[in-house]
Amino acid sequence: MILDELTIFKQHGKQFIPDVTKPVLPGPFKGRPELTLEKVDEEALASLCPTGAISKAPVSIDLGKCIMCGECAFAFPSKIKFTKDYKIATNVRENLIIKAGDLEPVSLDESKIRKEIQTLFGRSLKLREISAAGANADEAELNACGNVNFDMGRFGIEFLASPRHCDGIVITGPISENMAEAVQICYDAIPDPKLIILVGSDAISGGIHSGSKALQRSFLEKYPIDLYVPGNPPHPLTFVNGVLELIRKREK
Ligand code: SF4
Repeated sequence: MILDELTIFKQHGKQFIPDVTKPVLPGPFKGRPELTLEKVDEEALASLCPTGAISKAPVSIDLGKCIMCGECAFAFPSKIKFTKDYKIATNVRENLIIKAGDLEPVSLDESKIRKEIQTLFGRSLKLREISAAGANADEAELNACGNVNFDMGRFGIEFLASPRHCDGIVITGPISENMAEAVQICYDAIPDPKLIILVGSDAISGGIHSGSKALQRSFLEKYPIDLYVPGNPPHPLTFVNGVLELIRKREK
């Protein structure tokens, strides 16, 4: 038992990630895709995507729709590869569309961050997570954000039960008809000013459920979205880094 713990400790070096902005992820993680300018059969490429995330002329991948299945990179390896770059959260929906030849990292547009966010929430941000017909994958990764490894509590970022004690709502899942009212009630219960963060392709676009009659996503048309965290599910480091970019004041 103690030997197991010592082995893990030796592998990790520390029991927590000292700097969450720097780790290099091991294993087969799929992060920001890179698309070359090579000419391919765009029709064939776009048609193999199960969520319509791939557009033609020019070829692009919409991370807000992508479920990271990897089929496109498997079928067209010289055209598409997924890097291990997990910093893919942004506050601008269009920034999630990665075009061929675009090698720039995904980032937030600071000019579009509401002033009160960094003033009020820079050191303490309490969030209410609501699973609006989620499949429990996004939710599990959000849970992991608070564990000893990622420890987002050290930045003052925590999930709380009562929306009345929170500064924002984190939505996972595609928002079914049955959950639409609950999302609205939860949002209304949070005092102003408040954030909306969408986590996972299901929340951002409906994902694999997009177009289903069982969805009721009109809530998202009523309010500005402060942060999009793509992935299916997103890695905890994608969420933590995205939120830190949103709430932290930049060094001038
Ligand atoms: S990895 Fe994303 S873009 Fe590629 S086929 Fe799967 S869902 Fe579509």
